[in-house]
Amino acid sequence: MDSIRQAPSRNPATTGEANQPHLLIVEDDGSLAAGLARALGMEGYKVEHLDTGEKAMERMAQVDFDLLVLDIGLPGIDGFEVLRRLRLAGHVMPVLVLTARDAVGDRVHGLDLGADDYMTKPFALPELAARVRALIRRGQAGSGPRTTHGPLELDRAGRRAFLEGAPLELAAREWAVLQILLEKVEKVVSKESFIESLTNWDEDLSSNAIEVYISRLRAKLEPAGIKIRTVRGFGYMLEEYADRKA
Ligand code: CA
Repeated sequence: MDSIRQAPSRNPATTGEANQPHLLIVEDDGSLAAGLARALGMEGYKVEHLDTGEKAMERMAQVDFDLLVLDIGLPGIDGFEVLRRLRLAGHVMPVLVLTARDAVGDRVHGLDLGADDYMTKPFALPELAARVRALIRRGQAGSGPRTTHGPLELDRAGRRAFLEGAPLELAAREWAVLQILLEKVEKVVSKESFIESLTNWDEDLSSNAIEVYISRLRAKLEPAGIKIRTVRGFGYMLEEYADRKA
């Protein structure tokens, strides 16, 4: 696994350089971004700024940020798409969405995709700073949600998986397919709904591709007694772990 995330052990009383929350601003309006970076920098955060969604996705593959300030109207892939992709890839950092559009539909769409808060432009910088503080506190409250299924444990924040306590390598799409199955234990997930959830990746997906990811997951999980059942002509189902059935 290429990204290693240390368990957060931040103590506000001893916050120094190393423990500064690390923020990423994705905003194509240069002067707004500079103002944001300055204001948040003065709050004591370590701030980076990028002006496209593509650059942000690249950077987030290298660095685990503590919070993302994300503009919706970006050149290239827009903020909605960035949000969808990063949640699909298992990133759980808080996201504050900035939108110039005042449409309720946009806000709802953003929140549906996993934004934690949003602000409509124009906004006052002190209000943005206050929302960022609240989100950072919330993000630090837990050490990240862990999902377990029998001997399988997923650290969603760190995007790490463990099987019987040992690190388990999962490719990005295997991770995404597994997340979907884990949300619907003992429920059949159709191939179409896997495809629907995954097609916002770079290329189209065929149902054969889904079969490939499922068979890779089986090869990794079945030795530990975790079973993904094929429901012929329809889809797949993650069975409840046998120990818990008894
Ligand atoms: Ca913009």
